[in-house]
Amino acid sequence: MFDSLSDRLGGVFDRLRGRGALTEADVRQAMREVRVALLEADVALPVARQFVDEVTEEAIGQNVLRSVTPGQQVVKIVNDALVRMLGGDDPEGVELNLNVAPPAIVMMVGLQGSGKTTTTAKIAKRLSTSSMTGRSAKKVLMASLDVNRPAAQEQLATLGTQVEVATLPIIAGQQPVEIARRAVQAAKLQGFDVLMLDTAGRLHVDQALMDEMKAVADVAQPQEILLVVDSLTGQDAVNVAQNFSEQVPLTGVVLTRMDGDARGGAALSMRAVTGKPIKFAGVGEKLDQLEAFHASRVAGRILG
Ligand code: GDP
Repeated sequence: MFDSLSDRLGGVFDRLRGRGALTEADVRQAMREVRVALLEADVALPVARQFVDEVTEEAIGQNVLRSVTPGQQVVKIVNDALVRMLGGDDPEGVELNLNVAPPAIVMMVGLQGSGKTTTTAKIAKRLSTSSMTGRSAKKVLMASLDVNRPAAQEQLATLGTQVEVATLPIIAGQQPVEIARRAVQAAKLQGFDVLMLDTAGRLHVDQALMDEMKAVADVAQPQEILLVVDSLTGQDAVNVAQNFSEQVPLTGVVLTRMDGDARGGAALSMRAVTGKPIKFAGVGEKLDQLEAFHASRVAGRILG
Protein backbone atom coordinates (compact mmCIF):
# COMPACT_ATOMS: atom_id res chain seq x y z
CA MET A 1 0.00 0.00 0.00
CA PHE A 2 1.23 3.50 -0.90
CA ASP A 3 4.64 2.11 -1.93
CA SER A 4 5.03 3.83 -5.24
CA LEU A 5 3.43 7.07 -4.00
CA SER A 6 5.76 7.02 -1.06
CA ASP A 7 8.80 6.51 -3.35
CA ARG A 8 7.74 9.30 -5.68
CA LEU A 9 7.12 11.79 -2.90
CA GLY A 10 10.33 10.73 -1.17
CA GLY A 11 12.26 11.62 -4.32
CA VAL A 12 10.61 15.04 -4.63
CA PHE A 13 11.27 15.91 -0.99
CA ASP A 14 14.85 14.66 -0.98
CA ARG A 15 15.56 17.08 -3.80
CA LEU A 16 13.84 19.92 -1.95
CA ARG A 17 15.65 19.25 1.28
CA GLY A 18 18.94 18.90 -0.54
CA ARG A 19 18.92 22.57 -1.45
CA GLY A 20 19.84 25.32 0.95
CA ALA A 21 17.60 28.02 -0.43
CA LEU A 22 14.32 27.58 -2.25
CA THR A 23 12.64 29.87 -4.73
CA GLU A 24 8.97 30.07 -5.46
CA ALA A 25 9.70 28.36 -8.78
CA ASP A 26 11.32 25.43 -6.95
CA VAL A 27 8.21 24.97 -4.83
CA ARG A 28 5.91 25.18 -7.82
CA GLN A 29 7.99 22.62 -9.69
CA ALA A 30 7.97 20.27 -6.68
CA MET A 31 4.21 20.65 -6.35
CA ARG A 32 3.72 19.79 -10.01
CA GLU A 33 5.57 16.57 -9.31
CA VAL A 34 3.47 15.94 -6.19
CA ARG A 35 0.33 16.40 -8.27
CA VAL A 36 1.49 13.83 -10.83
CA ALA A 37 2.42 11.39 -8.06
CA LEU A 38 -1.05 11.76 -6.49
CA LEU A 39 -2.80 11.25 -9.81
CA GLU A 40 -0.71 8.18 -10.54
CA ALA A 41 -1.77 6.82 -7.15
CA ASP A 42 -5.38 7.17 -8.35
CA VAL A 43 -6.28 10.17 -6.24
CA ALA A 44 -9.37 11.84 -7.70
CA LEU A 45 -8.41 14.84 -9.86
CA PRO A 46 -10.27 17.58 -7.93
CA VAL A 47 -8.86 16.24 -4.68
CA ALA A 48 -5.28 16.26 -5.99
CA ARG A 49 -5.73 19.73 -7.42
CA GLN A 50 -7.09 21.19 -4.20
CA PHE A 51 -4.35 19.54 -2.18
CA VAL A 52 -1.60 20.99 -4.35
CA ASP A 53 -3.18 24.46 -4.42
CA GLU A 54 -3.44 24.55 -0.65
CA VAL A 55 0.08 23.39 -0.07
CA THR A 56 1.55 25.72 -2.68
CA GLU A 57 -0.24 28.71 -1.23
CA GLU A 58 0.91 27.93 2.25
CA ALA A 59 4.49 27.21 1.22
CA ILE A 60 5.05 30.36 -0.80
CA GLY A 61 2.74 32.63 1.16
CA GLN A 62 4.53 32.59 4.49
CA ASN A 63 8.08 33.03 5.58
CA VAL A 64 8.85 29.47 4.63
CA LEU A 65 11.19 30.28 1.79
CA ARG A 66 13.21 32.68 3.92
CA SER A 67 13.58 30.21 6.78
CA VAL A 68 16.80 28.32 7.52
CA THR A 69 15.36 24.98 6.44
CA PRO A 70 12.79 25.73 3.76
CA GLY A 71 12.73 22.17 2.36
CA GLN A 72 11.97 20.80 5.79
CA GLN A 73 9.17 23.30 6.25
CA VAL A 74 7.58 22.45 2.94
CA VAL A 75 7.62 18.76 3.84
CA LYS A 76 5.91 19.61 7.13
CA ILE A 77 3.24 21.57 5.28
CA VAL A 78 2.68 18.59 2.98
CA ASN A 79 2.47 16.26 5.96
CA ASP A 80 -0.13 18.41 7.68
CA ALA A 81 -2.15 18.71 4.47
CA LEU A 82 -2.02 14.92 4.01
CA VAL A 83 -3.34 14.42 7.54
CA ARG A 84 -6.20 16.79 6.73
CA MET A 85 -6.82 15.03 3.42
CA LEU A 86 -7.07 11.72 5.27
CA GLY A 87 -9.67 13.21 7.57
CA GLY A 88 -7.56 14.61 10.39
CA ASP A 89 -7.00 12.99 13.73
CA ASP A 90 -10.26 13.03 15.57
CA PRO A 91 -9.99 10.58 18.46
CA GLU A 92 -13.77 10.61 18.90
CA GLY A 93 -14.38 10.24 15.19
CA VAL A 94 -12.69 6.87 14.96
CA GLU A 95 -14.79 5.00 17.45
CA LEU A 96 -18.38 4.29 16.66
CA ASN A 97 -21.19 6.37 18.09
CA LEU A 98 -22.85 3.93 20.48
CA ASN A 99 -24.04 6.55 22.92
CA VAL A 100 -27.74 5.80 22.71
CA ALA A 101 -30.22 3.76 24.66
CA PRO A 102 -29.33 0.21 23.61
CA PRO A 103 -29.34 -1.31 21.13
CA ALA A 104 -27.08 0.98 19.10
CA ILE A 105 -27.56 -0.02 15.51
CA VAL A 106 -24.73 -0.20 13.01
CA MET A 107 -25.67 -0.78 9.39
CA MET A 108 -23.05 -2.03 6.95
CA VAL A 109 -23.41 -1.18 3.27
CA GLY A 110 -21.29 -1.71 0.17
CA LEU A 111 -20.86 -3.67 -3.01
CA GLN A 112 -20.62 -7.44 -3.17
CA GLY A 113 -17.06 -8.63 -2.61
CA SER A 114 -15.97 -5.43 -0.88
CA GLY A 115 -15.43 -7.33 2.36
CA LYS A 116 -18.67 -6.25 4.03
CA THR A 117 -19.56 -9.49 5.78
CA THR A 118 -16.01 -10.09 7.00
CA THR A 119 -15.83 -6.50 8.25
CA THR A 120 -19.15 -6.87 10.05
CA ALA A 121 -17.70 -9.79 12.00
CA LYS A 122 -14.41 -7.96 12.58
CA ILE A 123 -16.18 -4.94 14.06
CA ALA A 124 -18.46 -7.17 16.15
CA LYS A 125 -15.41 -8.94 17.52
CA ARG A 126 -13.71 -5.63 18.29
CA LEU A 127 -16.77 -4.25 20.10
CA SER A 128 -17.25 -7.42 22.14
CA THR A 129 -13.59 -7.60 23.20
CA SER A 130 -12.76 -4.84 25.66
CA SER A 131 -9.01 -5.26 25.24
CA MET A 132 -9.35 -4.23 21.58
CA THR A 133 -11.10 -0.92 22.28
CA GLY A 134 -10.16 -0.03 25.82
CA ARG A 135 -13.87 0.28 26.46
CA SER A 136 -16.25 -2.10 28.16
CA ALA A 137 -17.14 -5.20 26.16
CA LYS A 138 -20.43 -4.88 24.33
CA LYS A 139 -23.03 -7.56 23.88
CA VAL A 140 -23.40 -7.70 20.11
CA LEU A 141 -25.98 -9.28 17.82
CA MET A 142 -25.35 -9.61 14.07
CA ALA A 143 -27.98 -10.12 11.41
CA SER A 144 -27.53 -10.67 7.69
CA LEU A 145 -30.16 -9.04 5.49
CA ASP A 146 -28.61 -10.48 2.35
CA VAL A 147 -31.29 -12.62 0.75
CA ASN A 148 -29.79 -12.38 -2.75
CA ARG A 149 -26.51 -14.19 -2.41
CA PRO A 150 -26.97 -17.88 -1.62
CA ALA A 151 -25.64 -18.77 1.81
CA ALA A 152 -24.84 -15.16 2.76
CA GLN A 153 -26.80 -15.53 5.98
CA GLU A 154 -25.05 -18.80 6.77
CA GLN A 155 -21.68 -17.13 6.10
CA LEU A 156 -22.40 -14.54 8.79
CA ALA A 157 -23.57 -17.25 11.19
CA THR A 158 -20.30 -19.14 10.67
CA LEU A 159 -18.27 -15.98 11.25
CA GLY A 160 -20.38 -15.34 14.36
CA THR A 161 -19.36 -18.69 15.76
CA GLN A 162 -15.71 -17.92 15.03
CA VAL A 163 -15.77 -14.54 16.79
CA GLU A 164 -18.15 -15.74 19.50
CA VAL A 165 -20.82 -13.20 18.63
CA ALA A 166 -24.53 -14.05 18.46
CA THR A 167 -26.33 -14.00 15.11
CA LEU A 168 -30.04 -13.68 14.47
CA PRO A 169 -31.60 -17.09 13.75
CA ILE A 170 -32.28 -17.46 10.03
CA ILE A 171 -35.89 -17.71 8.84
CA ALA A 172 -35.99 -18.77 5.20
CA GLY A 173 -38.01 -16.56 2.86
CA GLN A 174 -37.96 -13.38 4.92
CA GLN A 175 -37.21 -10.13 3.11
CA PRO A 176 -34.56 -7.61 4.26
CA VAL A 177 -36.96 -5.15 5.88
CA GLU A 178 -38.73 -7.93 7.78
CA ILE A 179 -35.39 -9.32 8.95
CA ALA A 180 -34.30 -5.85 10.05
CA ARG A 181 -37.50 -5.42 12.05
CA ARG A 182 -37.10 -8.83 13.66
CA ALA A 183 -33.44 -8.12 14.46
CA VAL A 184 -34.25 -4.81 16.18
CA GLN A 185 -36.97 -6.52 18.18
CA ALA A 186 -34.68 -9.38 19.20
CA ALA A 187 -31.87 -7.00 20.16
CA LYS A 188 -34.26 -5.00 22.37
CA LEU A 189 -35.89 -7.99 24.02
CA GLN A 190 -32.65 -9.84 24.64
CA GLY A 191 -30.70 -6.85 25.97
CA PHE A 192 -28.04 -6.51 23.29
CA ASP A 193 -25.94 -3.35 23.38
CA VAL A 194 -25.23 -3.28 19.67
CA LEU A 195 -27.00 -4.66 16.63
CA MET A 196 -24.99 -4.98 13.42
CA LEU A 197 -26.96 -5.25 10.20
CA ASP A 198 -25.06 -6.70 7.24
CA THR A 199 -27.02 -5.60 4.18
CA ALA A 200 -26.98 -7.19 0.73
CA GLY A 201 -24.35 -6.13 -1.76
CA ARG A 202 -24.65 -5.95 -5.52
CA LEU A 203 -22.09 -6.14 -8.27
CA HIS A 204 -22.77 -2.52 -9.19
CA VAL A 205 -24.58 0.39 -7.61
CA ASP A 206 -28.18 0.20 -8.79
CA GLN A 207 -31.48 1.75 -7.82
CA ALA A 208 -32.92 -1.45 -6.34
CA LEU A 209 -29.95 -1.65 -3.98
CA MET A 210 -30.30 1.98 -2.94
CA ASP A 211 -34.05 1.59 -2.37
CA GLU A 212 -33.42 -1.44 -0.21
CA MET A 213 -30.78 0.43 1.83
CA LYS A 214 -33.19 3.30 2.43
CA ALA A 215 -36.06 0.99 3.42
CA VAL A 216 -33.84 -0.85 5.89
CA ALA A 217 -32.48 2.43 7.30
CA ASP A 218 -36.06 3.70 7.75
CA VAL A 219 -37.01 0.66 9.78
CA ALA A 220 -33.80 0.29 11.78
CA GLN A 221 -32.87 4.00 12.28
CA PRO A 222 -29.17 3.15 12.61
CA GLN A 223 -26.75 5.38 14.55
CA GLU A 224 -23.96 4.40 12.20
CA ILE A 225 -24.09 3.57 8.51
CA LEU A 226 -20.66 2.38 7.45
CA LEU A 227 -19.73 2.03 3.81
CA VAL A 228 -17.27 -0.79 3.13
CA VAL A 229 -15.05 -0.26 0.09
CA ASP A 230 -12.19 -2.23 -1.36
CA SER A 231 -9.10 -0.02 -1.46
CA LEU A 232 -7.67 -2.10 -4.31
CA THR A 233 -10.35 -0.81 -6.67
CA GLY A 234 -8.87 2.72 -6.71
CA GLN A 235 -10.95 5.22 -8.67
CA ASP A 236 -13.89 2.80 -8.71
CA ALA A 237 -13.94 2.79 -4.94
CA VAL A 238 -14.15 6.57 -5.02
CA ASN A 239 -17.05 6.50 -7.52
CA VAL A 240 -18.91 3.91 -5.47
CA ALA A 241 -18.41 5.99 -2.33
CA GLN A 242 -19.68 9.09 -4.06
CA ASN A 243 -22.79 7.23 -5.24
CA PHE A 244 -23.58 5.78 -1.85
CA SER A 245 -22.91 9.00 0.01
CA GLU A 246 -25.36 10.87 -2.20
CA GLN A 247 -28.15 8.41 -1.47
CA VAL A 248 -27.61 6.99 2.00
CA PRO A 249 -26.69 9.10 5.07
CA LEU A 250 -23.32 7.49 5.71
CA THR A 251 -21.52 8.14 8.97
CA GLY A 252 -18.19 6.61 8.02
CA VAL A 253 -16.14 4.46 5.70
CA VAL A 254 -14.20 1.23 6.17
CA LEU A 255 -11.42 0.56 3.68
CA THR A 256 -10.62 -3.10 3.18
CA ARG A 257 -7.56 -4.80 1.70
CA MET A 258 -5.23 -2.11 2.97
CA ASP A 259 -2.78 -5.00 3.31
CA GLY A 260 -2.69 -5.29 -0.48
CA ASP A 261 -0.68 -3.23 -2.93
CA ALA A 262 -3.30 -0.56 -3.57
CA ARG A 263 -1.84 2.68 -4.83
CA GLY A 264 -3.67 4.62 -2.17
CA GLY A 265 -5.99 6.86 -4.17
CA ALA A 266 -9.10 5.47 -2.52
CA ALA A 267 -7.81 6.21 0.96
CA LEU A 268 -6.64 9.67 -0.03
CA SER A 269 -9.82 10.71 -1.84
CA MET A 270 -12.43 9.18 0.41
CA ARG A 271 -12.80 11.96 2.94
CA ALA A 272 -13.05 14.71 0.34
CA VAL A 273 -15.53 12.78 -1.77
CA THR A 274 -17.86 11.51 0.97
CA GLY A 275 -17.26 14.14 3.64
CA LYS A 276 -17.16 11.25 6.09
CA PRO A 277 -14.27 9.86 8.12
CA ILE A 278 -12.52 6.61 7.36
CA LYS A 279 -13.13 4.79 10.63
CA PHE A 280 -11.38 1.47 10.11
CA ALA A 281 -8.95 -0.24 7.78
CA GLY A 282 -9.11 -3.96 6.99
CA VAL A 283 -5.56 -5.27 6.90
CA GLY A 284 -6.02 -8.99 6.24
CA GLU A 285 -8.48 -11.84 6.00
CA LYS A 286 -8.23 -12.81 9.65
CA LEU A 287 -10.97 -11.59 11.93
CA ASP A 288 -8.66 -9.57 14.16
CA GLN A 289 -7.09 -7.81 11.19
CA LEU A 290 -8.97 -4.54 11.53
CA GLU A 291 -7.33 -1.30 12.60
CA ALA A 292 -8.73 2.00 13.74
CA PHE A 293 -7.80 4.51 11.04
CA HIS A 294 -5.42 7.22 12.23
CA ALA A 295 -4.75 9.88 9.64
CA SER A 296 -1.40 10.98 11.04
CA ARG A 297 -0.07 7.43 11.17
CA VAL A 298 -1.07 6.84 7.57
CA ALA A 299 0.42 10.18 6.48
CA GLY A 300 3.60 9.21 8.30
CA ARG A 301 3.70 5.92 6.42
CA ILE A 302 3.30 7.72 3.10
CA LEU A 303 6.01 10.27 3.79
CA GLY A 304 8.32 7.61 5.25
P1 GDP B 1 -18.83 -9.18 0.89
O1 GDP B 1 -19.36 -9.82 -0.36
O2 GDP B 1 -18.67 -7.71 0.71
O3 GDP B 1 -19.59 -9.52 2.12
O4 GDP B 1 -17.32 -9.72 1.05
P2 GDP B 1 -16.72 -10.79 2.05
O5 GDP B 1 -16.76 -10.28 3.44
O6 GDP B 1 -17.32 -12.12 1.80
O7 GDP B 1 -15.18 -10.75 1.62
C1 GDP B 1 -14.72 -11.16 0.36
C2 GDP B 1 -13.29 -11.66 0.49
O8 GDP B 1 -12.42 -10.61 0.87
C3 GDP B 1 -13.12 -12.73 1.56
O9 GDP B 1 -12.27 -13.73 1.07
C4 GDP B 1 -12.45 -11.98 2.71
O10 GDP B 1 -11.64 -12.83 3.50
C5 GDP B 1 -11.61 -10.98 1.97
N1 GDP B 1 -11.30 -9.78 2.76
C6 GDP B 1 -12.17 -8.97 3.43
N2 GDP B 1 -11.50 -7.96 4.03
C7 GDP B 1 -10.19 -8.11 3.74
C8 GDP B 1 -8.99 -7.36 4.07
O11 GDP B 1 -9.00 -6.32 4.74
N3 GDP B 1 -7.82 -7.86 3.56
C9 GDP B 1 -7.78 -9.00 2.79
N4 GDP B 1 -6.59 -9.40 2.35
N5 GDP B 1 -8.86 -9.70 2.47
C10 GDP B 1 -10.07 -9.28 2.93
